[in-house]
Amino acid sequence: MKYLLNQLDPTTGFLDRNGCLNMANDLMTRARTTGQSLAMFWLDIDRFKQINESFGYLGGDNFIALVANRLKCKLSNRAEIGRVGADEFVCMVPNLDLVRSEQMATELMRIIEPELELSGIRIRPTVSIGIAILEPDDDTFGFLERADRAKTAAKKQGGNRYVISGSEPLPGRLGIMLVREELEIENKLHTALENGGLQLHYQPIIALDGKVQAVEALMRCRVNGENITPTKFIPVAEKTGLIVRLGEWSLLQGARHARCMSDAGIITKTAINVSRLQLVDPKFSQVLNAALICADVSPKLLELELTESLFMDISDTVQSNLRVARKLGIGLAIDDFGTGYSCLANLKDLPATKLKLDRAFVCVLPHDRRAFSVVKAMAQLGKELGMIIVAEGAETTEQVEALTEAGVDCIQGYIYAKPMDDISLFSWFKERAAL
Ligand code: C2E
Ligand code: MG
Ligand code: MG
Repeated sequence: MKYLLNQLDPTTGFLDRNGCLNMANDLMTRARTTGQSLAMFWLDIDRFKQINESFGYLGGDNFIALVANRLKCKLSNRAEIGRVGADEFVCMVPNLDLVRSEQMATELMRIIEPELELSGIRIRPTVSIGIAILEPDDDTFGFLERADRAKTAAKKQGGNRYVISGSEPLPGRLGIMLVREELEIENKLHTALENGGLQLHYQPIIALDGKVQAVEALMRCRVNGENITPTKFIPVAEKTGLIVRLGEWSLLQGARHARCMSDAGIITKTAINVSRLQLVDPKFSQVLNAALICADVSPKLLELELTESLFMDISDTVQSNLRVARKLGIGLAIDDFGTGYSCLANLKDLPATKLKLDRAFVCVLPHDRRAFSVVKAMAQLGKELGMIIVAEGAETTEQVEALTEAGVDCIQGYIYAKPMDDISLFSWFKERAAL
């Protein structure tokens, strides 16, 4: 297809906005006269604003040119491509139905994602994609707008994914704000995932009668001899969507660990942290089942800890994923309760079996009597809803006494044990048994 030279964008050599409109018009007319389908992909590079801010506009332009070149090399004989914004492209492909469009979107993500270098820093570009398939009553703007809206939904879900027009979920509230340090952490997380830099540590949760009710699996990340703390890498993983892969890894490792403990005659649950981004995926229950099968472990030995960000919007998909887990016999714990987004109104709607009171209430005990009253009230409420009450982060005997008086069932904290690797955990259990 030939277009006017003045409709080409100088940075990428693709059609510019006007050119895109003409292209869309031409392809739509052709699709309608031949009776073929037509797919539109609206691509938006994730975190481009931060790349611009970190590397300057020249760096940003170089980055766009590199990404555009990848698209050109792999697609120019199959698709018409245009640049519709600073970091936004449309790509139109005739004769693609919905199934093949989804395959194509995955292919587009693969084309863009290989690592590239910008001013000595390695970056893994990711992209959010909106897909629209031409419908009989679409006009040119309407068709483009549908793809754009689907792209915005993909972005709101954390980016690095595609959404098909018409299936956009309720708007989420995740912002994407990466600075240079975060880009580096993201890169290290990829390295850790690929080179075995991830590990789970375990921290016991102890009932007042001394029984170990569960051990919580906590992820550790070590790259090139450097430890990165979860408080740094978990938020980056959440923002980039990488948490889904990390979470799947954690689920499988945690399930395998539960099996090992049960084989060693240690009867306790393993609690695994699950992020909101994992639970909003309709495929989560399949991932869960796959982990159970791979680890060959009884679901009764597992618990899922749901982080507070889940409370931002509890969609039907989340509800259904949680119901599947409960039906299997997996326990559900509400983590960090009492801070952030956790909300009393939502408590009644979640099939949770455990309530974990946030460390913020515990660390001010026993002196803060108001905090004590809040803990007591939350413990009572949780119990009335049939949940086990856990207090997180107890470090002193005075705190344990206050928590016992407030009516909690279990305590997790440095006073009993810090998180430790699996070998140390087995020794810890052995030493306790010998007492
Ligand atoms: P969390 O799930 O609330 O885990 C408890 C955190 O409190 C852990 O921090 C633990 O080391 C810390 N902690 C426990 N007892 C004490 C204490 O007595 N004093 C103090 N100061 N801290 C205590 P950690 O391991 O740094 O993990 C931080 C958070 O990272 C976790 O909070 C969890 O939200 C997240 N996280 C860790 N692993 C995973 C994972 O596999 N998946 C997901 N989605 N999130 C994870
Ligand atoms: Mg937790
Ligand atoms: Mg917690």
